[in-house]
Amino acid sequence: MSSEAVNYEKPHAVCVPYPSQGHVHPMLKVAKLLHAKGFHITFVNTEFNNQRLLRSNGPDSVKGLEDFRFETIPDGLPPSNNYGATQDVPSLCDSTAKNCRAPFRDLVARLNSTPGIPPVTCVVSDGVMTFSLDVAGEFQIPGVAFWTASACGMMGYLHYRSLMERGIIPFKDDSYLMDGTLDTQIDWIPGMGHIRLRDLPSFIRTTDAAEIMFNFMGNQAQRCRKATAVMFNTFDDLEKEVLDALTPMLPPIYTIGFLPLQSHQIKDVGLKSIGSSLWKEDMEWLEWLEGKEPASVFYVNFGSITTMTTQNLIEFAWGLADSNHPFLWVIRADLVKGETAVVPPEFVEATGGRGLLLNWVPQEELLQQPAIGGFLTHCGWNSTGESFCGGVPVVCWPFFAEQQTNCRYACTEWGVGMEVDKDVRRTEVEALVREVMKGEKGKEMRENATEWRRRAERATRPGGSSYENLNRLITDVLRPRR
Ligand code: UDP
Repeated sequence: MSSEAVNYEKPHAVCVPYPSQGHVHPMLKVAKLLHAKGFHITFVNTEFNNQRLLRSNGPDSVKGLEDFRFETIPDGLPPSNNYGATQDVPSLCDSTAKNCRAPFRDLVARLNSTPGIPPVTCVVSDGVMTFSLDVAGEFQIPGVAFWTASACGMMGYLHYRSLMERGIIPFKDDSYLMDGTLDTQIDWIPGMGHIRLRDLPSFIRTTDAAEIMFNFMGNQAQRCRKATAVMFNTFDDLEKEVLDALTPMLPPIYTIGFLPLQSHQIKDVGLKSIGSSLWKEDMEWLEWLEGKEPASVFYVNFGSITTMTTQNLIEFAWGLADSNHPFLWVIRADLVKGETAVVPPEFVEATGGRGLLLNWVPQEELLQQPAIGGFLTHCGWNSTGESFCGGVPVVCWPFFAEQQTNCRYACTEWGVGMEVDKDVRRTEVEALVREVMKGEKGKEMRENATEWRRRAERATRPGGSSYENLNRLITDVLRPRR
């Protein structure tokens, strides 16, 4: 297209995800939705992830379209060619906060002076990439924070300061891990009722007030208050109490989730080939699931960051084997800390035709399959949302961050989950898998999950809260006022 034909009046959103899978995935959805609503899109990956996407998804994944373009900025970490593994989270958080603002500012300036591209009219910043909100301010355009985690998680992070001011954290010494301190009830966080310290985002579990993640997440949540608006991948019914309590604490809130159910609005076939998987997707499961009874297969996936010990892996393996249910287990190569994750050969022999082991799958799609009857998850917010979208009950093994909070809500508020002890035992895994798949409690949880799916579907259809909120966000905030 020649630059003469370009519509310079078109709104132009620059989308800046935090560079990990659980952030790139929902941000790409948001970008595609905005494109469907008439926006020119610039999607900003880190150079490292751009390479990863190319390797795992092929050149189409970052080629883009005339009005949906990819750009990169460096993440500030030392160069690495290890494209197969998850980057170290604290280092990446520290580095993006310190090093990305200047290259991002340069990028926006360059976009503004590039012929053939409408000027940048708004920034959609990941809630933990808030340097890009500062840059939006410098260019005097709206900066919307997209909080990709739960609203209950946000509420927890926003209270890190109060927990410090009350002298609760940092903990004095490591005895807090054993002496029941984490079971202390907290009843003063608005909208959260009674929760325990152990249910709050896990970075409070420190004896060091300067710990990177504790500071990073506390600060980023606070910095979202400077945004023009804050967007959540959740829906009103699900987190009503906490959203009501967040309303006076944040700029205008727009709940637009769950994003997988907003996909019906993305019609452009050219966008279909743009994927966000940082690992190569295995598709063997499609054929394997064919002909399986509804709700008959147990699915296991711990997301993109969780790590465990070899002993944990072995306990999960034998728990699954002993449950006697068909299962589909996704094992990332870097799932076991410091080693390549390998299950015992006897486990493979014992479970033979009953189990399928894979490296990486398009999970959002997989959880929509009627054959999936239960999901062992680390409770990452995307995985939690995708399980709601599929109406699938969960067994929770939270790893870190607000996964502990999500687990608590899944088990006690939403009635869709049961938790496995941190110190995994095969007998417990076996019992929970059996319960979820065939037990009375499992039946109740499946009914609840199905009801949540119905409500999420309602929210994302015309007239529903999330559907209308997305439109309101566009008209109220993201479209330039002329
Ligand atoms: N995911 C995927 N395939 C996998 C594992 C994960 O597509 O085999 C996707 C999953 O659907 C979700 C994201 O990766 O959208 C993981 O995000 P989540 O918030 O659940 O957890 P995180 O990886 O950030 O811990």
